[in-house]
Amino acid sequence: MALTIEDIRAKQRKISISGIAPPECVNNIKNNFNKHLHFTLVKDRQNATARDYFFALAHTVKDQVCGRWIRTYQHHHRMDSKNIYYLSLEFYMGRALTNTMVNIGISKECDEAMYQLGLDIEELESMEEDAGLGNGGLGRLAACFLDSMATLGMPAYGYGIRYDYGIFEQKIEHGWQFEEPDEWLRFGNPWEQARPEYVLPVNFYGRIGQDENGKKWVGCQTVYALPYDTPIPGYGNNTVNIMRLWSAKAPKSFNLQVFNDGSYLQAVYDRYLAENITRVLYPNDSIFEGRELRLKQEYFLVSASLQDIIRRYKGGKNFDYERVSFVAFPEKTAIQLNDTHPALAVPELMRILLDDEGLTWEEAWQIVVDTCAYTNHTLLPEALERWPVSLMQQLLPRHLQIIYLINHLFLEKVEEKWPGDVDRKRRMSLVEEGGGKSINMAHLCIVGSHVVNGVAKIHSELLKTSIFKDFYEMYPERFQNKTNGITPRRWLLMCNPTLASLISQRIGEEWITNLDLLRNLEPLASEKAFLRRLIQVKQENKQKFACYLENEFNISINPSSMFDVQVKRIHEYKRQLLNCLHIITMYNQIKKHNPNDFVPRTVMIGGKAAPGYYMAKLTIKLINNIADVVNHDPDVGDKLKVVFLENYRVSLAEKIVPATDLSEQISLAGTEASGTGNMKFMLNGAITIGTLDGANVEMREEVGEENFFLFGMTVEEVENLRKEGYYPRKYYEENADLREAIDQINSDFFSPEEPGLFRDIFNNLMFSDHYCLLKDYSSYIECQHRVSELYRNPLEWASMCLRNIAASGKFSSDRTIMEYATEIWGVDPSGIKLLAPHEESNNIED
Ligand SMILES: *Cc1c(COP(=O)(O)O)cnc(C)c1O
Repeated sequence: MALTIEDIRAKQRKISISGIAPPECVNNIKNNFNKHLHFTLVKDRQNATARDYFFALAHTVKDQVCGRWIRTYQHHHRMDSKNIYYLSLEFYMGRALTNTMVNIGISKECDEAMYQLGLDIEELESMEEDAGLGNGGLGRLAACFLDSMATLGMPAYGYGIRYDYGIFEQKIEHGWQFEEPDEWLRFGNPWEQARPEYVLPVNFYGRIGQDENGKKWVGCQTVYALPYDTPIPGYGNNTVNIMRLWSAKAPKSFNLQVFNDGSYLQAVYDRYLAENITRVLYPNDSIFEGRELRLKQEYFLVSASLQDIIRRYKGGKNFDYERVSFVAFPEKTAIQLNDTHPALAVPELMRILLDDEGLTWEEAWQIVVDTCAYTNHTLLPEALERWPVSLMQQLLPRHLQIIYLINHLFLEKVEEKWPGDVDRKRRMSLVEEGGGKSINMAHLCIVGSHVVNGVAKIHSELLKTSIFKDFYEMYPERFQNKTNGITPRRWLLMCNPTLASLISQRIGEEWITNLDLLRNLEPLASEKAFLRRLIQVKQENKQKFACYLENEFNISINPSSMFDVQVKRIHEYKRQLLNCLHIITMYNQIKKHNPNDFVPRTVMIGGKAAPGYYMAKLTIKLINNIADVVNHDPDVGDKLKVVFLENYRVSLAEKIVPATDLSEQISLAGTEASGTGNMKFMLNGAITIGTLDGANVEMREEVGEENFFLFGMTVEEVENLRKEGYYPRKYYEENADLREAIDQINSDFFSPEEPGLFRDIFNNLMFSDHYCLLKDYSSYIECQHRVSELYRNPLEWASMCLRNIAASGKFSSDRTIMEYATEIWGVDPSGIKLLAPHEESNNIED
């Protein structure tokens, strides 16, 4: 008998371990909620919608945050310790309501209050728009880091851009992706606090010269940066940090020429041009597109953030205004560059210290290098930022001049170390020739930082032996590894409350801030009663997801089938097409053999394609067409079902991850820097089928090879194969099942109405296959067979799931941040004085 959503919710209310909410708190929340409904939203219970109730609750919760927010600020100011600045063009935050309630410890009270008011809190939560200011892993990492830094009590700030439009909304029509604008601010944002009083000027264009104040960059166009602060609550520690996002605002003087010409209306209309800088997030993941507006965004973030950082440094306790000194700047400030997107921080900080603060080049350079650190996120050549010199010359002439000088001095050092090695200097130069000069932003970051890090062990090693080999030989001490992590608050406690409380019942709640304690679950892997509970929890999560698909998309799936899931951006290197080849192979097996022997599967694939990425969009169409054939074949029944999950985003990840049995992490070895999706699934008791790529390598190390489904080539094997020459056709000819699948794609078996639709996929696989799908196919299929065999035995499967959960502690972003803190930023979070617990949230100093 299948459980309904209502059954599951009723059950969750009963089994919650967080105890009974004290009635005075519940009454307080009810009162505040009513107050906001009436006075903030100006609605009553007759005309209020679910969205109004969401806003009323959000404001109620935000009120609880404000006292902690102010006290954290006062505390950090008093401590005067080193500030950490995380600069990122992306913060993929998702929803804030549940996270805020959980982190400040009022979720039980809010639950109870809404229940007493006859409202369904889950429905209210579902009204919140995702803050989708990111593309994928890189942006989500920044969000997980903010949660960990707040939870560790560190004085840390996220600096980013407040895009009017975040990542596009994906619509699927006739199997194709269409993009719609993400109007996330349409109903207002209850969490942000605008700070128009702290607006800062950002300059563009102009020329190099010398004005009456000695400024070297003159005749600029100015745009204002308006800060918006969003609270980042730590878990259970009363800390509330901030994420400061900048929005572009035209100054009064914008287009003064047109004003003076008397064209008042035109001048007002033109103000939107300046404000376009922060209009929209560029929707490319791991693909560089050299657009002028994007370069403006990067500089806009860097310029506004650095002004703010320096203002805060000067406002520090020991700063002596009489003898302005920047010597202590690196002791008080760490700046982490999330990929090369904020690379202009290096020349911009130089420019400020030289032109505005009057330091010498040598003094300024030492400060810049000691302050900045750079995280690399990819080895893919198409992702590396290379900005045309011509564009930089126009937009940022003084910065280009500084970059040239940095390069000159750097190449002198290279010459010193390797006299006469002309080719090495060419390879290492920040300025690259060929098809018009360009600036290699990764080179700029390496030269301007004291630490460069990769995001998983294997990735950090590859940096040293491949793209940054020359730089490693020059500065071996700069290169480090910081394996990525995810926050266990959002990715277990919040998204999977039933599993979280099952765990807490056995080992207590400390795992929430010390994820290594999950190791204490290991002995339970042979305890049948516990495994049955684990199976039950997973089954309920699957049931719940099946209900969601039914209600939202009218798709029905078999909740007792294996949920086989690949959700991530659509990209050739992630090899969604390899998954397709497996699906087609399973389909052919079912058609040929007795379907009753087949272990039922629901294969779900989701993810957005960059709007200009043809192959990725065609892949989405292929998945949908395969789904059409498979799902409508009466011979298949409910043995195999294929679903494309529309509009994959953080809030959808929170639903699918707890319901997944099998996690697909099948990128070609050496292409996925780390991955973080892989970690979310492991933490929620899915088993991974994956390659030796990114953090998969370390996940397998932690859980033991017998608890990980490994297939495919190693990095070395890929290198050797490429050296000897890769001929995909060979594997096509050798393997009949592979040949059949590829021929079906080519012969319009999945596109009978549109002959030739998938020809480009066929040609790509047969004649280039850059990511070696055909080579890895047989090993993948064989591995999938072993997966199915294990799934026949639920207790053995559950035991492996539990071992995965127990071994996932390393992948907490708390561990990652601790490593950044001690090994890059030179701060000791364990020594940071935490904010004292406060009973009175209104206990604020004046
Ligand atoms: C975690 C996450 C990602 C990253 O997934 P990978 O599998 O590591 O590429 C992308 N998008 C969303 C919405 C996520 O939550």
